[in-house]
Amino acid sequence: MVDENVLRDKAKEILSSGEVRRLIGWKRGTYGYEAAPCVITDASQADDLIFDATCVQNPASFITLEEKLPVPRGQQPDTRKIAVMVKGCDSRAVVQHLVEKAYIRDDVVILGIPCRGVIDRRKAEKIFGEAPQPVLAVAEKDGVVIRVNGEEKKVSREEILADKCLRCRYPNPVISDYPLGDEVEKWADDDFSDVSEFEKESPEEKWAFWEEEFSKCIRCYACRNVCPMCYCVECIVTKLKPQWTRRSTDLSENTVYHIQRAWHLAGRCIECMECQRVCPMDIPIMTLNRKLTKDVKELFDYEPGVDAEAQPLLASYNPQDPEEYIM
Ligand code: SF4
Ligand code: SF4
Ligand code: SF4
Repeated sequence: MVDENVLRDKAKEILSSGEVRRLIGWKRGTYGYEAAPCVITDASQADDLIFDATCVQNPASFITLEEKLPVPRGQQPDTRKIAVMVKGCDSRAVVQHLVEKAYIRDDVVILGIPCRGVIDRRKAEKIFGEAPQPVLAVAEKDGVVIRVNGEEKKVSREEILADKCLRCRYPNPVISDYPLGDEVEKWADDDFSDVSEFEKESPEEKWAFWEEEFSKCIRCYACRNVCPMCYCVECIVTKLKPQWTRRSTDLSENTVYHIQRAWHLAGRCIECMECQRVCPMDIPIMTLNRKLTKDVKELFDYEPGVDAEAQPLLASYNPQDPEEYIM
């Protein structure tokens, strides 16, 4: 458990130093099971910062979203650093950004948060129903203490934590300038058994599954917009000249969108599960992403977002790479 006073003091120190122009973290939201991401620019705002099991959203997504506003004549652009609070999974996005040279290491100050898991809103709603007031939740080794609508309860980790947390391999940030608290002990591993089960199905069964799921997609692009690795200035799905994917929401175009996106994330997806979390149609997007993650690991022994010195998978070549698919 991170001491919020330590976190706030460090944020104040960094913002007061003038070294950073903004700090991205979480503050208590106004509703429900998820804290709100926030950007603060002044030490006086640091007391708003929190960390608990409601801090679900990946703040690393915001680092690449900063709008480059025109600089008025006679003024210099603000090139100071950006500070960001990260859990283990979030930190993998920062590492992958560095691998892809989205920005350089000197541009960011990383506040690393050891994490025991975050809650899954959908699971929580099944247990407690809607929560019109902000929820407080602390993930412990043996359960999650949660205060919903004025009542405190302890529930098992399996019942309420996000699936990604139940198989988390990196609960401690893989990169950090200021570790905020002692490292937590790893409690799980990921054997990709969910993907292995899916792989056993016949092509007809797989197609029937995806036909049903992709048909539900309303192409709101929330999955793309929240993804820390979807940061292209111009996305191929919204490009008009040439137009690679039509805007209509039919099965064919939806399928193109999802396969296109999954391939663009091969060797890049850091499994933060944000895409699936925000999907208003409950489409299990991670089933597709995790299949590619598993293949990339098995075929190329490559794991994105863990080594800032690594080469991007699809921008590197090894003579030993498998090439059975080449005709
Ligand atoms: S996946 Fe790991 S680091 Fe990320 S929220 Fe869950 S427990 Fe924390
Ligand atoms: S968030 Fe869901 S509904 Fe929206 S585009 Fe992505 S998969 Fe489709
Ligand atoms: S595709 Fe989904 S899980 Fe992968 S990095 Fe993007 S938001 Fe995270």
